[in-house]
Amino acid sequence: MRLERREMTQNSAATPSVRVRFAPSPTGFFHIGSARTALFNWLYARHCGGTFILRIEDTDKERDTEEALRVLIDGMRWLGLDWDEGPAVGGDFGPYFQSQRGDIYREYLQKLHNTGRAYEKDGAVWFRVSGKPALIRDVIRGDVSRLEEKDFVIVRSDGSPVFHLVNVVDDIAMRITHVIRGEDHLSNSSKHVELFHAFGQTPPIFAHIPLILKTVGSGKMSKRDSGSLVEEYRRRHFLPEAVRNYLCLLGWSPKNDREILSPSEMTQLFELSGINHNNARFDEKKLAHMNGEYVRRLPFDDFCCRAMPVLQEAHFLDGDVAADYIHSVLRICQEKLRGLEDIGTFCAYFFSENFPRDEKSWEKISRGGEPLARASEFLRAARELDEFAAENLEALVQQLADAHGRKTGEYIHAVRYAVSGQSVGPGFYALLQVLGRERVCRRLEALVKST
Ligand code: GLU
Repeated sequence: MRLERREMTQNSAATPSVRVRFAPSPTGFFHIGSARTALFNWLYARHCGGTFILRIEDTDKERDTEEALRVLIDGMRWLGLDWDEGPAVGGDFGPYFQSQRGDIYREYLQKLHNTGRAYEKDGAVWFRVSGKPALIRDVIRGDVSRLEEKDFVIVRSDGSPVFHLVNVVDDIAMRITHVIRGEDHLSNSSKHVELFHAFGQTPPIFAHIPLILKTVGSGKMSKRDSGSLVEEYRRRHFLPEAVRNYLCLLGWSPKNDREILSPSEMTQLFELSGINHNNARFDEKKLAHMNGEYVRRLPFDDFCCRAMPVLQEAHFLDGDVAADYIHSVLRICQEKLRGLEDIGTFCAYFFSENFPRDEKSWEKISRGGEPLARASEFLRAARELDEFAAENLEALVQQLADAHGRKTGEYIHAVRYAVSGQSVGPGFYALLQVLGRERVCRRLEALVKST
């Protein structure tokens, strides 16, 4: 990655290198919409070999707290969105917190006073508009001309500078070349372009990203909607790379219509011009589905590392559980999991005798045959089996079926239920082998005795 970036910078020596920023106001939540804005900025910076800046717009003193900042930074790190300048990493254009940039704002404000573009009225400072339409160059919406008709406040009567002023001053001072942000800011851009001109600057190129709609209906997704916060997915053990992959497809798609993309493919293919003009619809099911794909495709060792904390959280490893056994369980479960968060229910019977039983599936099996008789036949034969291994067990079930004139399925359903309480799960014979003769026979005995 480092090499790639250096090459790209050299190739584009004539054009000023791309500098983009993600400029969140810490609210205590890291919303999916904000995360997507951060991701698009990050992708564009990495695509161009440019610089990705994290700037904290913490001018709302009542609301901004250390904790809110933590949520944001943890979320960014979790998603793998590393920044080149900003909190914790520094940079030549800091400070990167607006709350620490008061002197810079005062200096810029003075420039506006000097040129007659700022004036005081009713205790506030106002910006004098030019009266000419402002040209907003937007890669997604095309060029738009808008007339900002009225003067607007840039410093409130309590002395605090308004968003429009600080946002533009920082974009100038930090030499931002492209402003990639939510479409909800489109209506602010004519004010911003006016301010850039008043400071004698060429405005950056804008890319206003379409909104994210909630799963159903026409409303914009808000933090109250289910599945709208990044921290929720983290808590539910989603893979960050799956969430990132899903987010990148919310409003953008590579020309080849692929869906699962590695980070390097993503950065290589990402273009601002590829961002859709239409609003994107958030689909929690699709995200969960993609997460499942990622989980099932993980290299086994990696899968184990990620599954361990989930096993621990479910208290499956509280006793003395052998590492080999854990690995065998994970090996047969990986391909069947819909996500790591399923481990708690999907794998319970491997680690505890007190596992949930799906009574409905038992009723169904009972209606279709005599599962207790099949379980007893299997139990008797299983005790005698030489080696309790998958192939032998498979041969055994076949023999039993032939000898009693039954279908193998009748044995499989009855025994699977007895040992796992479920009608679905990992491959049946592998499951028996992993559980081992002792557990399997004990559970079969319990079932046969209980009825
Ligand atoms: N602090 C603004 C927000 O969170 C940033 C807007 C911008 O990116 O210009 O929406």
